[in-house]
Amino acid sequence: MSTLDGREGPRDECGVFGIYGPGHDVSRLAYFALYALQHRGQESAGIAAADVGGHIMTLRDLGLVNQVFDEQKLRALGGDMAVGHVRYSTTGSNGWDNAQPVHRSDRREVALGHNGNLINAVELHTELRERGLSFRSTSDSEIIAALLASHEAERIEDAAAEVVPRLKGAFSTVLMTKDNVVAFRDPAGLRPLVLGRIGERYCVASESCALDIIGAELVRDVAPGEMVSIGADGLQTRQLVTGAREAFCIFEYIYFARPDSRMGGDVLQAARGRMGEILAREAPAPNADLVIPVPDSGAPAARGYARASGLPQDDGLIKNRYVGRTFIQPGQELRKHGLRLKFNPLPEIVGGRSIVVVDDSIVRGNTTRQIVEMLRDAGAREVHMRISAPPIKHPCHYGVDMSTREEMIAHGRDVDEIARELNCDSLAYLSLEGVYEAVRGDRERHCDACFSGRYPLAGTDDANGKYALELPLVRA
Ligand code: AMP
Repeated sequence: MSTLDGREGPRDECGVFGIYGPGHDVSRLAYFALYALQHRGQESAGIAAADVGGHIMTLRDLGLVNQVFDEQKLRALGGDMAVGHVRYSTTGSNGWDNAQPVHRSDRREVALGHNGNLINAVELHTELRERGLSFRSTSDSEIIAALLASHEAERIEDAAAEVVPRLKGAFSTVLMTKDNVVAFRDPAGLRPLVLGRIGERYCVASESCALDIIGAELVRDVAPGEMVSIGADGLQTRQLVTGAREAFCIFEYIYFARPDSRMGGDVLQAARGRMGEILAREAPAPNADLVIPVPDSGAPAARGYARASGLPQDDGLIKNRYVGRTFIQPGQELRKHGLRLKFNPLPEIVGGRSIVVVDDSIVRGNTTRQIVEMLRDAGAREVHMRISAPPIKHPCHYGVDMSTREEMIAHGRDVDEIARELNCDSLAYLSLEGVYEAVRGDRERHCDACFSGRYPLAGTDDANGKYALELPLVRA
């Protein structure tokens, strides 16, 4: 498969944002917050806004945040509160219908954005259809919206208190009614969600980088199983589920989240730097001349590797920053240049030298294979790949596109075989222990199933396979 229609930065997950902010230009704040979360999903973007007590207006479309919204559209989305979403599909197809926020008005009006993946979506969908509800999308997010919008409890918080324990899987969810903004996180805390404060008001976002851009301060993480409700009475919180095994996604630390986001109290740039330092300790390359990163994802770890090994560091690959997921296909003539449209090697830097190349992860191996070839063509004498994560061998059932097990290069191959396959002089991965040392985290409170096959939620062991859990939902 050509890398041009393959991975171009994060292919997956979603980003969410919500603010209750009478007196603020809430849709503009939502727009910029989503702009900062763009790396979490580039397929569609949307914002819903309303005046307190008014009707919710939703605008969503396929495309990047700055393609979906313009000045005029933002002005039309005025109000006291807003929720927003950026998406790359994990469940359901890539269509306009699946763009979020999802808007429903069953018993109450609700606009909702969700990051994660429900593993009991099919059961809940069947149950709701039997109750006579119809669906416009095939996304599991609409199931959560339908459960909440159709619930008979008068207060949305009471509805959520009953609905949340019934949801299985990963869900960092933000929604608004005509009165307030409510957010909750699944009991295992698989996906991130933070609470921020802007003046006297509160907001929630997938990552703290979204708070920085709008001048909000990070208050804390929303706790696993916790609901926060922000409205006229300020902030109210309720622990909806207690005692679950925590399982925050370790891959957020390694790759997904932006390096300037803070998770578990640490800025990720620092954690990724430590991954590189530990990698240098675990897998030195004493005879190499130079460390280079695969930009941008490998940059913090490459710096750490260079720091710890004492080797010099430089940029041997220059990345075109403007290559996104949606760009014109190169056609036959250019296709053979593959990744060169994204990365250009510098022969003056790498020529005649033994290079350590640091990247954050290998999934299918397409990126690495082409980078090795490109560096050799540019005259590199030796190419030693160093990866700041363990081999990815198992699919993610909790909202990350890791492709299928069969497509993963580490599936059924040991490290030497992978090195041969990728044509590098040596290859080494950071150990799982090394990852936990770098994030200063406890394995029993994280999910590392993509590396270990140890799935923290009951009923999601590897034997089920990705598709068993994501049967396409039938449209009503
Ligand atoms: P691959 O070519 O499939 O081996 O992709 C590996 C590259 O994609 C690495 O440079 C990673 O930074 C990046 N990557 C890792 N995981 C993902 C993911 N789930 N979605 C998109 N890109 C990813």
